[in-house]
Amino acid sequence: MKTPFYNKLAYIGLYLAILCLLSVLAFHFPEYLSNPQLRDVYDVNQLRLILLSSLYLAFGMGLIALIFSRKKGLALATVLVAAAATVLGGSAVEVQIPIQQKPIYLSLDLIILDLLFMSLLFVPLERIFYLRRQRFLREGLAIDLSHYALNHLLMGGVFVLIVWPGNWIHQHIFQDRVPHLTQQMPLWLQVLGILFIADFAQYWIHRSFHKRPRWWQFHKIHHSTMKMDWLASSRLHIGDVIITRAFSYIPIVCLGFSQAAVQLYLPIVAVQALFVHSNVRFHFGLLRYILTTPVVHHWHHSSDPKALDKNFAVTFSFIDVMFGTFYAPRVWPETYGLYREKISNSFMKQLVYPFVEQLRKPKA
Ligand SMILES: [Zn+2]
Ligand SMILES: [Zn+2]
Repeated sequence: MKTPFYNKLAYIGLYLAILCLLSVLAFHFPEYLSNPQLRDVYDVNQLRLILLSSLYLAFGMGLIALIFSRKKGLALATVLVAAAATVLGGSAVEVQIPIQQKPIYLSLDLIILDLLFMSLLFVPLERIFYLRRQRFLREGLAIDLSHYALNHLLMGGVFVLIVWPGNWIHQHIFQDRVPHLTQQMPLWLQVLGILFIADFAQYWIHRSFHKRPRWWQFHKIHHSTMKMDWLASSRLHIGDVIITRAFSYIPIVCLGFSQAAVQLYLPIVAVQALFVHSNVRFHFGLLRYILTTPVVHHWHHSSDPKALDKNFAVTFSFIDVMFGTFYAPRVWPETYGLYREKISNSFMKQLVYPFVEQLRKPKA
């Protein structure tokens, strides 16, 4: 039996125990710590079951690690955090229905569910099919997680800003003038249509973020990552997130796609965005000329001058092929990050950086 295995068990157990503790807090204060739109989608009883199983699992991992692991402190922390989650009510916390939703709230439930499902998918994938061996607690992880936490916790407010321009244009310009042919299409075709239209819009916004100096101050934060993996996708300035998604949403709402299609599209694009950043060695051969695969987006993050301002599409790389911005040789890039530019490694400084730069620089 190898010790490192038990150390990993302690890390995974602690991660799970923290998610459990956060879940219990969200159950206690749903009016402050959960997203009302998301609550309509999930089944609370299923979440209670997942929470209960996760608590057992975290306890079990903590206890095994306590006996066999050398990281006794980490193992003890796992057991204590899981115990705290249980003492605070565990999966049995009563929720007062109806929930008196507060106008200002944090989408903690989104973070917990997203982290749980995405780590279940990507951690094993990157362990088995890794492109480069890198520690999970890698350089820059804290910054990525900070951007991730902020962008997800404020999703309630961010969501309002994302859908507002699209809904306004639809209501004041397009409504009743656009025949809702899209809703009569089969669901799979609508999802495919949204994937293409949103990516087409995203392509031009992304290209603008690279070409316009003022916009670049926001987007260069995404390009400051030196290590690629699924969490590197989270390093996005909140302004970048709002602008990109708002513009991508405009054609979706104006063309009248059904809500069912939009709800199917969202998890697909979320997984795809993480997948193209992930530390996996999938090449996909000639398919990379049609679909954006990890090698295509890894080149987008490369600091190699040949790859600068290339590969803007996130889903369909043929959009890049069409507009002459495709660059993805069969080999993987060797260096990542900004080209001849620097940015602070502090999350707070990155957050204010674009605004400070706007004041400092003359108009472009
Ligand atoms: Zn970019
Ligand atoms: Zn990226």
